[in-house]
Amino acid sequence: MIRILYTIGTPRNRRVLTALLALMAVSSIALAFGLVFIALFLGALFSGDPGSAGKYALWAILAVVVYAAADWPTEVIAQNVGSEYIQRIHELLANRAVELPLGFFEVDRSGQIGVTATTGAMFAANAPGMMLKPILHGAVSAALASLFLVFIDWRIGLLTMAFSAVVFVAYRRLIIKYKDAERVRGEQTERSAAQVLEFAQVQPVLRAAGPDSIGERAVRDAMREQLAQLRATQSTGQSVVGRLAQIITLGTVVIYAAATWLLLAGQMEPGMFVGIVVLVFTLAKFASAALPFGEGLQMAHNTLDEVQKVIEAEALPEPATPATPDGYGIEFDDVGFGYQPDTPVVRGVSFHVEPGTTTALVGPSGSGKSTLLKLAARFYDVGEGAVRIGGKDVRELGSRRVLDSVAMVFQDVYLFEDTLYENIRLGRAGATREEVLAAAELAGVTEIAEQLPDGFDTVISEGGQNLSGGQRQRVSIARALLKDAPIVLLDEATSSLDIDNEHLILKGLETLSGDRTTIVIAHRLHTIIGADQIVVLSPHGEVEAVGTHDELIVSSERYQRFWGEKTEATGWRLARDEGRPE
Ligand code: ADP
Repeated sequence: MIRILYTIGTPRNRRVLTALLALMAVSSIALAFGLVFIALFLGALFSGDPGSAGKYALWAILAVVVYAAADWPTEVIAQNVGSEYIQRIHELLANRAVELPLGFFEVDRSGQIGVTATTGAMFAANAPGMMLKPILHGAVSAALASLFLVFIDWRIGLLTMAFSAVVFVAYRRLIIKYKDAERVRGEQTERSAAQVLEFAQVQPVLRAAGPDSIGERAVRDAMREQLAQLRATQSTGQSVVGRLAQIITLGTVVIYAAATWLLLAGQMEPGMFVGIVVLVFTLAKFASAALPFGEGLQMAHNTLDEVQKVIEAEALPEPATPATPDGYGIEFDDVGFGYQPDTPVVRGVSFHVEPGTTTALVGPSGSGKSTLLKLAARFYDVGEGAVRIGGKDVRELGSRRVLDSVAMVFQDVYLFEDTLYENIRLGRAGATREEVLAAAELAGVTEIAEQLPDGFDTVISEGGQNLSGGQRQRVSIARALLKDAPIVLLDEATSSLDIDNEHLILKGLETLSGDRTTIVIAHRLHTIIGADQIVVLSPHGEVEAVGTHDELIVSSERYQRFWGEKTEATGWRLARDEGRPE
């Protein structure tokens, strides 16, 4: 942990941290001296040697004074270290955020970065001040004092050192076990949270299926596993502390037994016996008090690891002089890509989107449709082949130019805690009020504004929680319309939209696509039929067929199946609309 803090800190941060560590080291050493001199003082006192007792008392007082002098400023310096490192971690994360590829901030990661930047940063930055002191007092003072004991009584000294070594080795082994259990628990929690969310989203279907359906059972199983893992982690955590405490108690008893034996055998002065009993008792207390902080330190270490990962993550290479696209057609040329190097998600993907036309991507869930959109927007660079816009490789265009030429409407729309108006204006910073309101009108946002207390000037809660999923998507369409980019990448949302929303969204999307070059992950029959070309993906991320609806319905078996399922699923709407799809 300290190593990472030194790596990420500025020279000033490092100076403050060094001062804190130096003061803590001095206070720990002084504490060890103090404890030993108190033991020696008691030993001399009970052995009827007041001269030595007085001398040891003076040394003990001196040690306590040094301890107090070193310990006193640590509180203030620890707070400085805390606040400086919180600021530093935020600064590093913010600096990196503007450089890293957009793919880095995808779903899980952005949540993780949020936690790292808030509670994690606070915890890690305050860890040296809050947790190192008891640990240093427990470990350094105990180790040092047992070393002194060797000079006072080598037999008891060696025994104490041997037990200290056992505690240290056991601690290292147990904490590794705890770390693994904690990691599994984290993964399990994420899994069951996802299950519960999915469970909530598919309620209409599940309720129709009745109690004890497959969905309910899946959630129940996930919860049960999570609970079991939580118990396992807690008991591992408790058993780490518990077992170490047992070893310390056992060590204390063995040392007392040895000292008693030496006393009875006449090989130890009664005064020294008292001194050693008091010293060993105090050391055991300090060591036990330090134990619970080990877990905390481990957690702080994990957070700092996360910060370091962000700092060390590679940015995409940017061209010194970005190329200029020749028009806005899009070409996927034998593209291969995987999020992990050896697990390809899309392979050998080739298709061409003519400027101003719409290409619909269809394929089973997980076939790589969203991945292709992200590659077109250069969230990531391809592993093989090339993605070209206007005939130029997106790597030659550079991220800025690519992002300038695309407008994206994805499923997860994030709204900022600002007015509805500003949330739309995010699409293009320099837009006038008229332009913002015109885009809002086209996307059906004016209706949303009319229902809000302050219209367009109503402040949206963070993440847009006070708007429905469909309303958020309409805001995102308005943003994209305002941006007026030549390329549109869109993911039609299917879930949780009511019919009114769906109608408005459809209208907005049609306006958005217009004569722009569009790639759409299509779910609606209307969009699919209307597309200039449809790219059918296999479950393994390969292009299985390319063509229009009329062509594919004859030539592609997968497309026929897909179409059959779609029309069946939306059959009720066909009837309601008197035969017109959606
Ligand atoms: P689709 O849009 O067709 O449902 P995706 O492109 O979202 O498919 O996903 C294709 C595959 O890539 C899936 O197996 C998915 O789990 C994986 N995947 C998607 N996004 C990520 C990511 N950010 N990190 C790792 N794997 C991912």
